[in-house]
This record gives sequence, C-alpha cells and structure tokens, in this order.
Amino acid sequence: MEKRGLSTEEAVLLQQQFGLNQLPAPSPTPWWRRLLQQFNNSLIFILSIAAIFSAALGHWVDSGIIVAVILINTMLGFIQENRAEQAVAALQSYLMEYSLVLRDGHWQKLPSANLLPGDWVRIENGERIAADLHIREAHQLQVDESLLTGESVPVDKQPINDNELGVLHAGTMVSRGSGVGEVFAIGGATSIGHIQKLLAQTKAGKSPLLIGINQLSRWLGLGVFLLAIIASLIAWTHGDSLEFAILAAISLAVAIIPEGLPAVISISLALGVQRMAQRGSIIRQLPAVETLGAVTVICTDKTGTLTENRMAVEDLRLTQNDPESLHRALENMLLCNDAEISDVGQGSGDPLEQALIRYAHGEDGALIHYQKRNPRLDTRPFDHESPYMATLHADRIAIKGAPEFVLQHCFQELDQTVGFWEGVISEMANLGLRTIALAEADISRWSSLDQGGWRWLGVVALLDPPRQAVPAAIAACRGAGIRVIMVTGDHPRTAATIARQIGLVDAGSVRVVDHGQWLAASPAERQQLAREVNVFARVQPTDKLELVKTLQDEGEIVAMTGDGVNDAPALRRAQIGVAMGLSGSTVAREAAAMILADDDFAHIACAVAEGRHIYNNIQHTALFMLPTNFAQGMVIFLAVIFRMILPITPLQILWINTVTAITLALVFAFMGADKALMQQLPRPIAQPLLPGTLWIRITLMTLFLVMMVFAIFKTGIAFYDVVHARTLAVNGLMAMEGAVLLAMYGSWRNDRGDWILIISLVVMILLQALFSQLPFLQLVFQTTSLSLNDIGIIFLTALLAWLAARLILHPLQTFTLKS
Ligand code: ADP
Ligand code: MG
Repeated sequence: MEKRGLSTEEAVLLQQQFGLNQLPAPSPTPWWRRLLQQFNNSLIFILSIAAIFSAALGHWVDSGIIVAVILINTMLGFIQENRAEQAVAALQSYLMEYSLVLRDGHWQKLPSANLLPGDWVRIENGERIAADLHIREAHQLQVDESLLTGESVPVDKQPINDNELGVLHAGTMVSRGSGVGEVFAIGGATSIGHIQKLLAQTKAGKSPLLIGINQLSRWLGLGVFLLAIIASLIAWTHGDSLEFAILAAISLAVAIIPEGLPAVISISLALGVQRMAQRGSIIRQLPAVETLGAVTVICTDKTGTLTENRMAVEDLRLTQNDPESLHRALENMLLCNDAEISDVGQGSGDPLEQALIRYAHGEDGALIHYQKRNPRLDTRPFDHESPYMATLHADRIAIKGAPEFVLQHCFQELDQTVGFWEGVISEMANLGLRTIALAEADISRWSSLDQGGWRWLGVVALLDPPRQAVPAAIAACRGAGIRVIMVTGDHPRTAATIARQIGLVDAGSVRVVDHGQWLAASPAERQQLAREVNVFARVQPTDKLELVKTLQDEGEIVAMTGDGVNDAPALRRAQIGVAMGLSGSTVAREAAAMILADDDFAHIACAVAEGRHIYNNIQHTALFMLPTNFAQGMVIFLAVIFRMILPITPLQILWINTVTAITLALVFAFMGADKALMQQLPRPIAQPLLPGTLWIRITLMTLFLVMMVFAIFKTGIAFYDVVHARTLAVNGLMAMEGAVLLAMYGSWRNDRGDWILIISLVVMILLQALFSQLPFLQLVFQTTSLSLNDIGIIFLTALLAWLAARLILHPLQTFTLKS
C-alpha cells in the first residue's frame, strides 16, 4: 500500500488554514467568584462577627482594623490560590502528547497539537487517539470507545472501506494491536470536539493536609467560642459591664485564630509542586505530594527506568556459524522491526529494535534498503502476555521474542538442543544482558502462529547499562527506610545481575521470583515473598496488581511505576502510581498520580525527598504559629479572669498576627530541605500533622511565651505608663517570634530560603519600628516611642526566647530515627 502523508510545505499551508489540533479551553472560574470563596472559611467568619460587634459597640477603630485584617487575609489567600492554580496550569504543558507522524516520507515524533488533516499517524496499543482518523492499516486493532459511547467493551477495527468500523475517534483509547490512520478532522472539528470534554487534565483535588487544617481551624473556632463565653461570663459576674465582657470575647477570638496559617500551607504545597516539576516529576494529583513523603516501598520497572534504554548488540549466537545463517538472522532483525533509522542516523521507535537495525546495517551495508524491498503484509504486535512479535512477508514469517517463549514454540524442531540453548541464554543473562530470540516460520502458519512449529535461528544479547544516578538514588532510598523492588518483564538472571550492579540487593546470591512461582504461591506464601524478595522477573501486568495488593495488606505505602496499558490497574491501585513521560502509554499516564518526565528512577527518590520536605515545612509552620496564637489567647483569658489590665490590646494582637503571616511565617514555605529528613524512617501515614509529642512542645512554648509577655508588661508598668508598657510587650512578643524562627530555621542552608529569612526579618523589624515610632500608627494602635533601654530589654527577651526554642522546638524529630 502506498503511504503518502504530508510534506513540510503542505503542513505549513494547512496549519494556517486549520490551526492547532486542540480543543478550546473551558472558561476559568471568574476572579471575583474565587475572591468570594475566600470568605467561606470559619476563621474569617468569626472575625467578621467580631467586627460587627465592635462596630455595634461604637468601637469604630477596632472594627475598621478587624475589617482590614479580614481583607488582608482574604487577599493573601486569593493570591496564594492563584499561584497554586498557575503551578497546576504550568504542569499541563509538561503533559503534552506526541504522535508518530509521517512527514516528508519519514516517521517523526511531533506534538499531537500539530496534527493536520491529511497526516498519516501510527496508532499504538495504549495510546489515546489524537484526532479523528480513517484507518489505513490495522493489526489486531481494538479500541475502547467508552468515552463516546459509554460502551466499555473494546471494538474491533478494520481498515476503512466506507464503514463505521474504519473510523477512529479522537479521545478514544487503543486497547490492543496497532495500525496506521489518516487524519480527517482535528481540534474542535472532531466528534469529541463537538461533545467538548477536556482530556488529560491535572486533577487539583484538595489535599488531605488542607482538609485537616480546615478541621483544625474549625475546632479552634469552637474552642475560641467556648472560651469567649466563659471569659465574658466571668467578667460579667465580677461586675464588669456587658460591653467589657463582649470586648473580652472579641479579643480572645482574634488572639487565638491563626489567620495566616491556611494561606501559608497552600503556598508551601504550590512551591513544592513547582520544585518537583523542575526536577523531573510532574504531579497529576495534588494529594500525592503528602503521600509521597510517607512511601515505604517503591516498585520499579527495569528497562528505561533503572537502565538507560539505550541498547547495543553485544553478542549473537546462531544455530550454525556460516554466512548463510548470519544473513538469515540479520534479515530477520530488519523485517520483524517497527523502528526506523533515518539517512542521517536519527532513530525512532523502540531502542531495542533500533539497536537491531544498527547492528544489521553495520554487519552488512547492502542491507540498508532491505526493509523497503520486502514490505510487510501483516503484523502480530508485541504484548506482555505472549512476549513475541511477528511479521508476515512474501516468503516467510519473521519472529522475535523472549527466548524461553520462543523456545517453547520451536520445540519439535530443536529437540535435543533445547538444553544447550537454555544454557546459552542464562549465560548471557548472567552478564546482565537483555536477550531476544530470533525465529522464522512458513507463511502458511500465519493464522495458527500461536501453536508453534517455528524454526529457531538463534539469540541476540543486548547491553542496556544502568543509569548513572540510579545507584546513589537507591542507596538514598534504602537509607530512608524505603524498600526498592524491581519488577521486570525481563529474564530472571538479567534482572538479578542488574539488581546487583545498582546496589538494589547486596552482593551474593539474589532471590528472584518469576511469574510461574508467583502464580503457584498461596496467599500466605505471596505475603512472605512480598516481604522478602526484591527482584521480580518475567512478570505479567496482572502480577503487578497482585503484588501491590499484597504489599498493601502488609501495611505498606506503595509507589509503583508502569508504562503499558495493562499496567493501569496497578498504577491506580498503588498509593502513588508513577507513569513514564517518554516511553509510557497515555493510558498509564492517565492512571498515574505522578509522571517521570524522563523516565529516570532517580527522580522518584527526589520526589519522595521533596514530599518529606514539604510535609516537614508545613509541620514547622504550624509549630511556629500556634504557640504565639495560643499564648495571646491565654494572656487575654488570664487578664480577664484575674481582672488585670490587658498587657496587649486586641488591635495590637491583630497587628502581630498580620505581620507574622506576611513576613515570618512565609519563611517556612521557602525553607530548604534538612538532610536528616532522608535518614529517617517514613512517617506513619495515619499520623496526624501534629502528633501528641508536638502538642507537648506547643504547650511548653505557649507557657513560656505567656510568662514572658506578663514579665515584660510588669517590668514596663513598674517604670512607665500602660501605653508604654503595652508597646514594650508587643515589640517583645514580635522579637521573640523572630528569635523562635531563627532557632527553628537551624543552620544556614545556602539556598533561597536564607534570603527569604533575612528579608522577612528586616521587613518585620521595619514594620515594628513604624508601629512604635510613626505618629499615625501610634494613634491607631495606642503605642509610643521606645528608648534605647527598651530596645535592650527587647533584645534580652529575644535571646531568652531563642534559648527556649532551641530547647523545646529544635531539633524537630517527628519520625523514629534509624539506628
Ligand atoms: P522490561 O520489564 O524489561 O521492560 P518487557 O516486558 O518490555 O521487559 O520485555 C520482556 C521481554 O520481551 C524482553 O526480555 C525481550 O526478550 C522481549 N521483548 C521486548 N521487546 C520486544 C519486542 N519489541 N519484540 C519482541 N520481543 C521483545
Ligand atoms: Mg518494557
């Protein structure tokens, strides 16, 4: 059949006429709607009530300030949310789809968005159809059209001759086989375009952490409410006016609520997702970020993930050592092959098949056009259940596949030499080489090829070296208490050798389980295998799913990689499904929580480290903000029930909270990772953000701060008036917060976080200077200028706070340290 496709010149013209192969994007939520959503928050709600009460009592300044705080916080939340959304939108561009397109007579990998009517495209098992196509060639092609029809049974497809079956629709999935199609409609003109549905989207699910924080703030809200009632009742029974009682309640509310916390947490998540994308792991489901930090087992493919997937033929063993046999084998390598090498040496397609072509061309230059001269009449594509590929030609069937499988089908013919060949194959595999058997059959056998009767030609061994960064990444995982399990379709001995080379198992004998052993094992035995064995070879996709389930029954948090269509169930089942960005199928990608941009295992280890880092930063933020808020609440509560003068007024508390949220608390979002994080065991997934031990630290820190505030205020009162003493108390508290931040930050990290730390401290000090010295702010917040002596006192408090924080909060070890 003549294949035409488009030329580059035609494509340029058509592009102007038809535009890009994209569906029009749905309209985003309008900004004002997102702004309004910020008010749907219990903390903001309580503040609003406080504002209304203050206004009703005629305290206009208070009310105005509370409203200002509400506005600042909603703006902060709004900006962070925008930022998170932009991060997600940026990820979309990484998720770009590619198609194999015939342009200028060559198959080329182009972005699917550039497809044009008239283009010829290759269709491969596991891919999503990128445009509406007429089928020109089909090999056991089956398509899942449930997206359009709702019918989940795959439909058989044949080349077009004016029938329904000859058409492929954009957005549907190829569930089996392969073929070639010609584009007839793109973008909005496709049938899916008419239905208007966006494909391959990043899911922005709410992270469990944010849900947890919202719950925490709801509890805080309730607690604040109860405390406020108690405080005002006590005040009232003491004979204070109702007005005083209500003001006390309002003060408590604004004191305890950590207004900035949710915003700081969402910015931490957004920044983390961006950092991961820069390092090659693209998050498709935001909740995965936190789960990553808790991963206990990583199950990974071998070829392409642990190894480079850049292969070269190392060895070739044939039945006879004569030129005739060699030529037959080289022809076979070229015939049974989907890859292509251009005239300038540029390869496309499966690296293993590229290596075979390069080898055959190298051995015999006359074979360069052999493929073109012997066109293929039909194809039996490779799949993992029966791992072989066959092509039908005028004079023979060319076959290649996994050696044991091919041997079985050559049984009658080989007879006594089977044992010899098995020896050759394991010898090659022992060297870590990837093995592939070559065979032939008569064309009459095409319809019953599965029944055997093949002629054995020999076996090829290919070298696929481990990726450079992999041994270090595996060591890092093992040091972090994470097990790495290799799950491969390759030969058990090849798998064992590579596993040893990359340090996945210790030197010595390696235990390997293959498909047969796994299948024969009872559930109890499987549990034991899953616990003890780190290399699984010749596995089939269903084994992967079973392995994930077995590990999960053992309580493990599993990350599982996969590339084929059949891997999708295992990817969906694992807590973290990881798909391949380069080699993976679209089906696998859509089932995954995370995508590896360049298939490299090392990026999984980085992502786990980043997951731990983000979680740790968020924990630090909560640990930093809560003691201050609780201390403020307690100061007011105590002052009210013991009828003392308030050391800090509600307005001043609002000032403190706002300044903290826009300066100090933000530092944690940018803080670099602590190296010790990857030397600890994974965090138990069920452990709350703030486990019991952290609440003890929060309580101790709170008590310390309460004591200090009273101490500063009493000192102030002894020498000055109330206004001066309060100014001193506010500045003392802010200085202590700065000192606590420094203590928690720990050592200098030489990254962006250091600069953010310095900037935020400087801005905080400037704001405090304005707060104390600027006449206008003095009027609003009832403050007064400080003397040098005062500044000395403030420094002293800060120093004490630093020491206390070092003792109580640092170092923050929330996971069990490995011995
Ligand atoms: P892996 O887990 O290493 O990626 P695969 O499941 O892809 O392994 O391959 C399993 C076996 O199938 C390989 O060891 C090889 O012998 C055979 N095989 C791989 N690719 C092809 C192919 N394109 N054609 C024929 N046989 C193949
Ligand atoms: Mg593979």
